[in-house]
Order: sequence, then C-alpha cells, then structure tokens
Amino acid sequence: MDKYYHSVTLDKDKCMGCTNCIKRCPTEAIRVRDGKARIMAERCIDCGECIRVCPYHAKVAVTDPLTSIEKFPYKIALPAPALYGQFKNASINAILTGLKKLGFDDVFEVARGADYVTEFIKEAMRDPERKKPVISSACPAIVRLIQVRFPELIDNIINIESPMEIAARLAKKEFCQKNGVKEEEVGAFFITPCAAKMTSIRSPIGIERSCVDGAISILEIYGPLYNEIVRLEEDDSLQTASPYGVLWANSGGESSALGLDNHLAVDGIQNVIRVLEEIEDDKLTDLEFFEGLACPGGCVGGPLVFENGFVAKNRIRRLSEKAEGRHLSREEIVGTKKKIQWSFEKEILPKPVMKLDDDITLAMKKMEAIERIYDGLPGLDCGSCGSPSCRTHAEDIVLGYASEMDCVFKLREKVKELAQQMIELSEKIPGGKVTNKSE
Ligand code: SF4
Ligand code: SF4
Repeated sequence: MDKYYHSVTLDKDKCMGCTNCIKRCPTEAIRVRDGKARIMAERCIDCGECIRVCPYHAKVAVTDPLTSIEKFPYKIALPAPALYGQFKNASINAILTGLKKLGFDDVFEVARGADYVTEFIKEAMRDPERKKPVISSACPAIVRLIQVRFPELIDNIINIESPMEIAARLAKKEFCQKNGVKEEEVGAFFITPCAAKMTSIRSPIGIERSCVDGAISILEIYGPLYNEIVRLEEDDSLQTASPYGVLWANSGGESSALGLDNHLAVDGIQNVIRVLEEIEDDKLTDLEFFEGLACPGGCVGGPLVFENGFVAKNRIRRLSEKAEGRHLSREEIVGTKKKIQWSFEKEILPKPVMKLDDDITLAMKKMEAIERIYDGLPGLDCGSCGSPSCRTHAEDIVLGYASEMDCVFKLREKVKELAQQMIELSEKIPGGKVTNKSE
C-alpha cells in the first residue's frame, strides 16, 4: 500500500479522549485507546470532519507557514475562490492586490483555473462512452473517499486536473515567459480553505508530482491580509476569472458552470456518502454529473476558513455578479491543452483498507469471527469502547487492535459471572460462604 502524507494530525496533549470524533469520521479511521484518540493513517482521507467536531481543538491541519514562500526567489499566490468570501466590503481586486503586498510577485486566481477545468469537463462529457454519472474530481477528500469506500465508482471520476493544479501550471508558465526566469526559481502557493488540498499537494491523485509548492491556510493569512486590504489602493487589472469560476467556491458552482441539465450538487460528507451509496446501487442512472463536496456549503465551509460559511457563501455570490473576467475563447482552451498537462497521467487505484486479509479463506474466517463477536455485543454503538460502533469493535478484536473487555457491558457481564463463580466456589468450602451483597 502506498504511503501518503496526512495534513490532519492529533495534538495528543490536548486530546481528552472524549470520543466525540470517532462517530463522525466517514471512514471509521479514529479509535480512542488509553484515553487518547489515534488516527489510522491508511483510512484517513483528510476530510477535516474531526477538526470541526473536536471540542478541545486536539485535531489540527498542518499547512505551510507564510514564511515558507521565502524559499523561492519568485513567489506566486494561488488564492482559492473561497478566500474572496472572507472579507467584508473587499473587492476581489483588493484581495489580490493585498496578496501582492504580502510579498507575492504575482497572483493567479484558482477561479481562472476553474474556468479552464469547466471547459475541459464540458468537452470530456461529450464522449458517449463515458461512464455516468460523471463524478467531479474537484474535492480531494471525496476522491479519497471513493478510493476507500466506493472503489467501484473510481471509473466515474472525471480524469481532469483540479483548478488548483491548472492554475499553478499556467501561472508558472506565464510568469517565466514574461520575466525570463526558470520554473525552479518560482514557488506557487495555494491559499487553502481545507486540509485535503494540502494532502493533495504532497500526495497527489492522478499525477506524479504536484506543480503547487505549498499551501497556506486562509486562517493563517487572514490577519496579515486584512491589514493590507484596509490601507491599499487596489490594482483593478488583477481579476481575470469569470463569474462562474468565482462561484466554484460554493456548492453547486461547478455544476452551474457546466450548464448541464441533469446534475446533482451535494455538500457535507455524510450527505455525499448517501448519494454515492445510491449511485453504487444503480439508483441514479439518469444522472449526468455529480458534484460532491466534503465541507458544508462547499469550500467556503472548509475547516481552515475564518468567516462563517453561510456569510462567505452569500458574499461569493454577490462578488461573482461583479466579477469582470471574461469567458475563455476557443483558442485559449485549445492553446492551454497544448501548453500544460491538464488530465490525469496516472490511474486512480482503489485503497482497500477495509479488507480483512489478502488470503480469501482467512478473510472469510475473520468475517465469521467478527459476526460471532458482534452477535454477543449489545449493539448500542455507544463508542465507550473507543471504536466507532459495535461492528468496528468486533473487527478491531479480530484484527488484534482491541479486546472484548474494552466494552463496558461485556466487562460488567464478566465481573458478574466471576462474582457468581466465587459464590458458588465458596459454598463448596466447608464452613465458608461469600455473600453477594446485591442479593
Ligand atoms: S474529539 Fe477526539 S481528538 Fe478531540 S478530545 Fe475528543 S477524542 Fe480527543
Ligand atoms: S480527517 Fe476525516 S477521515 Fe481523517 S480522521 Fe478526521 S474525520 Fe476521519
């Protein structure tokens, strides 16, 4: 199994072992053992759901500090469209100018990258052989979720690079051409609303190596950027993305940009899972396109944003109406396809982390053991054993990660049984008797 980087990690000192996170993890990747949470790396898809629900802020997303841009002689900022929704009364041009004031030599809107991706998907959708519904590849957490939980849907994923990658490639090419510098001298930094994007830079899907050199969280850049925005004179030539590209920040933005008749846009990881289950069961065969985003409301609701997702969503909608960028010409689309790698170069492979054993006979035996143990558990899914459900607890016992006595109900049963045995034994001792105080 290939080892990949994870942005989401645990701050052990802050974890109180409250078990809040274990039930919300969509891939059952968290266990609480010895009073502390533990993330099973092979299962985690970096969706950030546990960051959202931990009351002690013990789950954190590791991103690059703003100072990391200094590693490169030339630096380009790639702002996620979600960044536009963070500032009250700030235009897109003001935000882009502010980024340049922070030390970036240039900015390239990821929303402009989204304009290109929209056109590439439209073309790809004309292929009658394409498996329907086509599933968006924009949210890396959803692509990972499909690899882990819905491997039979991998062929439905559109094999086109994300707006972030397209933006990075175009930004570097254009900057180098304009300034006569080498690509290795230029660092492209994504301003990210989520942990999953950070992971997709370090461990990309569908490509060998990401063209993005780092990710700075919106939370980290918010303060310094705000201070620049309030005192700058904006450069009104920076904004180039179309209104549709800007709207990719919100759930449904990608679908409306595609202009397809029969599409479905769903946000929030548990909602996405419900729809993927229906697609898996062939219940949505007439659907053309499915846009699933892990965060509530879309990227505006990412775990690394500053502003309330609902407020940001509304701002993005209003800013998109004022966006002055134009639609792409045929020449630009064809020219860009020749200039950069725009589709996946590697197959997306399943990640069968839920597999019990490589040997099918052993796997069957383990499955039988799981069923047997599960039948003896109370079925309350209380989480007090440290596993997310009674079934996962049974799996953990069979795989050697837990013991039956981690279940408080089983422990109580066992204690009662032992107490009864002691009473019975004591009655056999001449003249001796132990009294069960509960009687
Ligand atoms: S929610 Fe999870 S990580 Fe946070 S304190 Fe509780 S057990 Fe620890
Ligand atoms: S980031 Fe998502 S998949 Fe990973 S442990 Fe947290 S909730 Fe589970």
